[in-house]
Amino acid sequence: MKFLNRQLATLPWTHLAWGKPLIPKHAFTLWIAIKQKLSTLDRKCTSHIDSVTCVLCNNALESHDHLFYMCPFVKPLWTFIQIPCGFYIQPTNWASLISWAAYHWRGEGSSHSSSFSRLALASLVYNVWAEHNRRIFTGRKLTQNSLLHLTLDSVRAKLLSTSIKDSTTRRQIVEEWNLPSSVLRQPAKPPDI
Ligand SMILES: [Zn+2]
Repeated sequence: MKFLNRQLATLPWTHLAWGKPLIPKHAFTLWIAIKQKLSTLDRKCTSHIDSVTCVLCNNALESHDHLFYMCPFVKPLWTFIQIPCGFYIQPTNWASLISWAAYHWRGEGSSHSSSFSRLALASLVYNVWAEHNRRIFTGRKLTQNSLLHLTLDSVRAKLLSTSIKDSTTRRQIVEEWNLPSSVLRQPAKPPDI
């Protein structure tokens, strides 16, 4: 276990999928997606399946890069979740998105709230993977709009249950997420002397 912890500590993206405020099942799916170890169709034995075409768009080979970023069903969702998080990027692929996020969301001092952004990243990845499985195993489909609202609602619900340290940047993001100002925690005052 010590070896595993040492190994994880050296990975530059570990902090994206580790610790608060992530929802555990979202964090786990994000972790596996970053390592590109989910059972996407391109990784399965093709002799037992009819097609390796993406089940979300039916128009490309289903890989991690395609499913979690390049897919025309998913890519617009990334644009929408960036707005309330307060950043805007257009990476070339899934790996460059993770590299960008790992560099910029390293801690409390980043230019935007890394906690909000990590939460949104993990929520979207989880919900995309859930939709992928829903279509394969139940035949049911959610629309892009429904998937976006599932993602945003889970982030908002998590933020409502947490206490957020007050700052100008975070106050703006709280407004973007339409959260009550009561979630903001005032910085501790120095003791009276
Ligand atoms: Zn697709």
